Amino acid sequence: MAPPILSLALPSETGRVLSIQSHTVQGYVGNKSAVFPLQLLGYDVDPINSVQFSNHTGKLLLSLHSNRYPTFRGQVLNGQQLWDLIEGLEANDLLYYTHLLTGYIGSVSFLNTVLEVVNKLRSINPRLVYVCDPVMGDEGKLYVPPELVSVYREKVVAVASMLTPNQFEAEQLTGFRITSERDGLEACKILHSAGPSKVVITSIHLDGSILLIGSHQKAKSQPPEQFKIVIPKIPAYFTGTGDLVTALLLGWSNKYPDNLDRAAELAVSSLQALLQRTVNDYKRAGFDPQSSSLEIRLIQSQEDIRNPQVSFRAERYN
Ligand code: ADP
Ligand code: MG
Repeated sequence: MAPPILSLALPSETGRVLSIQSHTVQGYVGNKSAVFPLQLLGYDVDPINSVQFSNHTGKLLLSLHSNRYPTFRGQVLNGQQLWDLIEGLEANDLLYYTHLLTGYIGSVSFLNTVLEVVNKLRSINPRLVYVCDPVMGDEGKLYVPPELVSVYREKVVAVASMLTPNQFEAEQLTGFRITSERDGLEACKILHSAGPSKVVITSIHLDGSILLIGSHQKAKSQPPEQFKIVIPKIPAYFTGTGDLVTALLLGWSNKYPDNLDRAAELAVSSLQALLQRTVNDYKRAGFDPQSSSLEIRLIQSQEDIRNPQVSFRAERYN
């Protein structure tokens, strides 16, 4: 009998990301929005799909917009099934990762298992970078079970290396209301003191603009280096942008580990070029971009992802 042929994975020179996010058959949210851009930036990406749905559910839209997809079908992975996949990888010595990325998580049991995954991956690579997008809600409304908030707040923030909340999520995690630029900077400091050295509040809505605030605390004893990027609001509603911006921030901040401002300029510039293309393409096809939520033109924007022209500048605070 022929000896069994063993299979062996080569180590990744560029970084290997375990990305635990939702999957949609059609459309770009969750892993569909994150995996391709990270691959374009040169990373090996191993996706675990926390759900597999036919299309996005419009959870972000709630009652805000009427023209989301009317229904969806699919499957949800539970915490035990997630752990089963991790055990399968471990049994084959395939659990060495440089990065863990998580996005929307719908249940406490799944989130608790993610915490076990963080521990397990760090037992194999103590330098594992955990990029956590604490997806919980937007515009004053939660779209996860409320019990999830305290798990993020009490357990997940503490183990995250980089956190990318939006304004509402930063408020939920800190208990601190954000109504100004100053408040955003303060919220980042509160989050640093709880764990992550890098915090990016991906959107604070002020006077018709979107403010992205980034904060990097390079040493525990030092104040963080902070910056903002002002983004004019495009009059349209997109899905998957939060998942995409977090993936791009992971990708670029790993290439510029000491320049979070530079990483954010690149991420935002890519994203804005893609959003502009999305709006233009919908208009060209005869749609009113304000009449429904737009699916991002991800595949069509690969050049903007690979080689972004920096058109959005970070302004540093002293
Ligand atoms: P989420 O709340 O889903 O996490 P955000 O609202 O923070 O996502 O959006 C992520 C990024 O997408 C923002 O930093 C911004 O750059 C971009 N973005 C989203 N919507 C718009 C818009 N209407 N106009 C311009 N940029 C947008
Ligand atoms: Mg987000």
